[in-house]
Amino acid sequence: MGKEFGQYVLEKSRQKVSKCLQCLKCTSGCPIVSWMDYKPNQINRLIQMGDKKKVLSSSIIWLCVGCQTCVTRCPMKIDIPLLMDTLRSLAVKEKVSKKPNITIFHQQFLNSIKRWGRAHELELIGLYKLKSGSLFQDIKLGQEMFLKGKLSILPEIIKGKKEIKEMFSKGNG
Ligand code: SF4
Ligand code: SF4
Repeated sequence: MGKEFGQYVLEKSRQKVSKCLQCLKCTSGCPIVSWMDYKPNQINRLIQMGDKKKVLSSSIIWLCVGCQTCVTRCPMKIDIPLLMDTLRSLAVKEKVSKKPNITIFHQQFLNSIKRWGRAHELELIGLYKLKSGSLFQDIKLGQEMFLKGKLSILPEIIKGKKEIKEMFSKGNG
């Protein structure tokens, strides 16, 4: 299973985690490392060891904001955010995430992009709140944002919506 997991990650992300030197350059530059249970270099080690369970239930895969700092610092050019995309998608597929609300938000965000080509915030927040069972939480904040024009009722019409849908179909999104 360990070997299969490593192979899956390699094929999907095209990142050669086996080449990681454990030099810590990624971890020492990551702006949100103090909130992560496993650090970027540690998650690489877990992938090398084939510990699928720990990897897929870790917080790092949901907390990584894709800022690319680690990518620019890595001597082996390992693209950790790309790796996190692969791991997030596998965690959703296998329903193993210990962060159900983040998983719900992630899924609703992708659904919104698929539907409109970019996130429609009002719909995204509404569906997230409904599915996470916290519909009336933050309602005051929502009202204030709406009154300040931060949330529009209708989605923005963008160019290339069809191409984005096709991208999702190719990736089984
Ligand atoms: S891309 Fe993710 S892991 Fe890399 S530095 Fe940014 S937040 Fe940290
Ligand atoms: S910077 Fe690159 S080689 Fe160094 S620990 Fe991080 S991923 Fe591994």
